[in-house]
Amino acid sequence: MKTPYLVILIAREAILLMSEITFKIVERFFTLSGEAPTAGQPMYLIRFSGCNLNCSYCDTSNRNEINEQLTFTQLSDEIAKVQKEYPGAFILFTGGEPLLNERMQAISQLAAKHCDTLFYVETNGSIFIQDYGKGNLRYVVDWKTTSSGEGESFCTANIKKLRAGLDCIKIVVDKNDLSHVISMIDKIKKYNAGLDIYLSPQTGKIELKDLASFITDNRLDSRLSLQLHKIIWGLDATGV
Ligand code: SF4
Repeated sequence: MKTPYLVILIAREAILLMSEITFKIVERFFTLSGEAPTAGQPMYLIRFSGCNLNCSYCDTSNRNEINEQLTFTQLSDEIAKVQKEYPGAFILFTGGEPLLNERMQAISQLAAKHCDTLFYVETNGSIFIQDYGKGNLRYVVDWKTTSSGEGESFCTANIKKLRAGLDCIKIVVDKNDLSHVISMIDKIKKYNAGLDIYLSPQTGKIELKDLASFITDNRLDSRLSLQLHKIIWGLDATGV
C-alpha cells in the first residue's frame, strides 16, 4: 500500500521542526538521582530553562536562566557521548518544566533515536503528556498540593495514560496537605491501580517520622521518597 501523501508531509514537517528546535539549557552534569524510583542511581541531569508554575517551595531559583543553547543534533550528539562515557547512567530531563512547547515532541524523538538509553522526564504535572514513546522514555509526574500554591495545576487526564511499572506520580507533602493527599491517592488508584505513588516531604514543613506514620497509619499504597541530594550535599547545594 502506498504511504498517503499527507502522512509523508506531516512526517517531513516533524523532522524539519526538530531540526530547527533550540534547547535552552540551565545546566547539565553527572550526579546521583535524588528521589522517586531512581533514587541513588547515577544519571546525567539536563535542566531545561523555563517553567509555567511558581511553587511556594521551589528550590530551583535558576530555572529561568539560559546558560547554553543546543540544537536537536547537538543535544543528540551530547547524549551519545554520555552514553559512551557512562553506560550505566540514565538521562534525566528536568527543569523548570521540560515539556514546555515543542520540547515534548523533541524529547520523544531523542528517546526514539537513542533507544538503548534510559530517559526519565520530571514534569510538574500541569501538561498533558501526548507522547509516551517506547519503554526507554519514562515520566515522573508531580501532583502539586494546595500548599504549593499551584494546587489547581494538575492535568488529571494524565492519570489514566501513565504506564504502571514505567511511570509514577510524586506528591511533595506539607503537614497541612495530609487530609487532601488521601483523596489524591484514592483518585490515582481508582483510575490507575498499579501506578506507583511517591510521597516526598516538603523541606522543613513536615517531620519525616510523621510522614512515615501517615503512610502506614492510613494503610496507603504509596512510598516515602527522600531527597537524597539534600541529605548528601546539604539543603542549599546547587549543581550537584
Ligand atoms: S514546577 Fe518545579 S521548577 Fe517550576 S516552580 Fe514548581 S518546583 Fe519550581
